[in-house]
Amino acid sequence: MNINLQLKDPQWADLALVTVKELVAECREELDECERIGRFPAETYRRMGARGLLGVITPAQWGGQGGDAPEYCFTTEAMCRYGLVSSQVQIQGMRWMNDWGTPTQKKKYLPGMVEGSLVFSESISEPGAGSSLKKLSTTAVRKGGDWIINGKKIHINLGAESHVTLVYAMTDAGLTSFLVDTDLPGLTRRHSEPLGYRFLPTADMIFEDVRVPDAALLGAPGEGMKTFLSTFNVSRLGNASELIGFATRALAEATDYAKQRDVGHHKVTDFQGIQWTLADCYSALYGASLARDHAANLVKQGQEFSMATSLAKKLAVEAAEKTTNDCFALTGGYGLYRDKPWGQLLYEVKTLRIAGGSVEILRNYIAHQILKDEKLRGLK
Ligand SMILES: Cc1cc2nc3c(=O)[nH]c(=O)nc-3n(C[C@H](O)[C@H](O)[C@H](O)COP(=O)(O)OP(=O)(O)OC[C@H]3O[C@@H](n4cnc5c(N)ncnc54)[C@H](O)[C@@H]3O)c2cc1C
Repeated sequence: MNINLQLKDPQWADLALVTVKELVAECREELDECERIGRFPAETYRRMGARGLLGVITPAQWGGQGGDAPEYCFTTEAMCRYGLVSSQVQIQGMRWMNDWGTPTQKKKYLPGMVEGSLVFSESISEPGAGSSLKKLSTTAVRKGGDWIINGKKIHINLGAESHVTLVYAMTDAGLTSFLVDTDLPGLTRRHSEPLGYRFLPTADMIFEDVRVPDAALLGAPGEGMKTFLSTFNVSRLGNASELIGFATRALAEATDYAKQRDVGHHKVTDFQGIQWTLADCYSALYGASLARDHAANLVKQGQEFSMATSLAKKLAVEAAEKTTNDCFALTGGYGLYRDKPWGQLLYEVKTLRIAGGSVEILRNYIAHQILKDEKLRGLK
């Protein structure tokens, strides 16, 4: 629901929306099959790249559209609203690259990422480290002028399909990020089977003496927390947009069903209690969209945005959980089958409640800001 996004060009947004809908129709066969078996629709991704949907925030110099956070939010929401694969992971990668990449790294990776022929993944979480990176056990040790990486990463979206993965590892200097080409010796990848995010399957990634040069460093040794936060503080907006898109789709399709479903002499939507459900879900999504739009505009304006993006994701999780849950009230037994969208959409929302920063971690951050800043408490 775009209420107040400061888009660079409203006509661009109209075109992007048409493109998303056209691609969903063109790629229907691959999308349906990949959703059913939980696989990555590689051909669809390439077509999205060719039609300008992946390089939304990447400068024109590298083949991108040169957009900002509002364009990122608009397209991400549309992809999830209409059933295309989300570009979130790829765009996160481009943000890392735009902000921290050396000219050589940008030249090597960005054009392919924009086209969708070069797939990106981010290797951060481990069996013993998820919400907190304090116990990260993957290491990168200096040897003969190179870095030797050892460790195990889990839950990595597109881990098995990606051509390059951004690995967070501990070095003598502290947390450090490395761009690792996935065809290097010593890397083993194995699919895992998550309930949600079916188009972006997860994998375990095992790094055994994977050797990379200094040129693989993203940022300096020890700057890992900086590279991490600079992307995740913004990518919460992509998650918020995915959540709003998934929930809007759930509500739209449930409403269409309920409007035509007879219950005795009534339609389901004749009942006031059901109408209130619609009103409450719509209000929740409206509020979440306003918060998301405000945060995206702050990012674009170069103002402080961490609190706003955290609030945006938290509100989007709450609105999307409520909406996808309440849609079962509108659809009755019909909604509870695998060939209907609502069960899967609930899983998408549950995934995003955790992945990319869980609601609990966002609440910790928001509470910390409130306690620290009297202005936020309305005292000044
Ligand atoms: C489908 C899917 C895709 C993912 N994709 C990726 C990916 O591409 N790359 C990647 O690196 N990771 C990925 N992740 C991992 C994800 O980022 C982690 O699952 C997430 O950070 C939470 O870590 P955890 O699962 O280890 O939970 P834990 O850290 O074990 O937390 C368990 C519970 O405790 C809560 N909790 C933790 N700390 C606190 C606290 N201080 N206060 C209150 N509550 C707390 C959490 O919110 C959670 O509810 C993905 C996960 C999923 C499920």
